[in-house]
Amino acid sequence: MRLILLIDMDYFFAACEELRDPSIKDKPVVVGADPKAGEGRGVVSTCNYIARKYGIHSAMPISQAYRLKKDAVFLPVDDKYYEETSAKVMAIIKRYAAKVEQVSIDEAFADISSNVDGYNGAVEYAAMIKKSIKEELGLPCSIGISANKLLAKMACTAAKPDGIKLVKDEDGKAFLSQMDVEMLYGIGEKTAEKLRAMGYKTVGELAKANQIKLIDAFGIWGAELYKNANGIDDSELVDNDVVKSIGRETTFEKDTSEVQAMKDAIRKMAEEVGKELQAKKFAFKVVTIKIRYSDFSEHLKSRSLRQHTDKVEDMASSAYFLIEKYAEKGRAVRKIGVRVSGLLAYKGQKKISSFVNYPRLKPVGFP
Ligand SMILES: [Mg+2]
Repeated sequence: MRLILLIDMDYFFAACEELRDPSIKDKPVVVGADPKAGEGRGVVSTCNYIARKYGIHSAMPISQAYRLKKDAVFLPVDDKYYEETSAKVMAIIKRYAAKVEQVSIDEAFADISSNVDGYNGAVEYAAMIKKSIKEELGLPCSIGISANKLLAKMACTAAKPDGIKLVKDEDGKAFLSQMDVEMLYGIGEKTAEKLRAMGYKTVGELAKANQIKLIDAFGIWGAELYKNANGIDDSELVDNDVVKSIGRETTFEKDTSEVQAMKDAIRKMAEEVGKELQAKKFAFKVVTIKIRYSDFSEHLKSRSLRQHTDKVEDMASSAYFLIEKYAEKGRAVRKIGVRVSGLLAYKGQKKISSFVNYPRLKPVGFP
């Protein structure tokens, strides 16, 4: 049996904004176009759940949102910041699943079939992922669990906000049956209109449709619709992960400002990263450390080496250098991480040293 998760961040852009400025957390937050006192054009991109209580929702004209709640916190879309945050979310998910398909900036399928046994294990595993995302990034998400992508996606929608929902394969059909056809994953407004005109208002009705009729109306997609309405989806995850970096992070049991404690943690992580590099046959060129202070502010500092290497020693010494240079003295650190990037695959070669001219490497190019 396959075990698929759909992990979807809750009100992602607005949640990112709340993270950056916690003082807006208890207010309605609307991310999108400039409302210009009601004259603004463009739409709402995302809003938090407080804003939703006033009837505001994604894709609504910003002028309308303004009329609904003039004193809401209106913020522009900060793509770069959301992309960076998204990368962090995806990195956490990838720690837990060998196969991940990112479907949007804040959403990914994860195949955990080889990580857990059965549905109970999957629920616990999902809770762990959710907890990691919450603890490490401070962001809420919802997770749907099932045996295929379609049901995982639909389960996730039902889990929102901030929940986890399991829909067992055998319960899929019943789970979907009462929903409007428009709610079925992959059905847009136009298709839904057409289906309703054909007499299929609910997914349950569509599940009992005459397949030939559907294929006549929608072509090959008609057969797919029929299967989906019955909770069937054989599609595989599209693994769109190109390994770009490998890293580890450690949260200290007690926040520390001791450089030696940070170095010890780095040493341990560097060894793990080294093992992973060797297993995957990658050499690296850039070492990055992450320092998160007790107030959750975070600093990333990188150092580039002259040549690729797969040596733990090179990784650790660069990381030590970065800590000494950048860790703010006396400031309590909550978490520390080390990451290598600029990866070069040397598949087919026994060792990196057999194709890279490999004298001792002199790090260059401090940021
Ligand atoms: Mg989302």
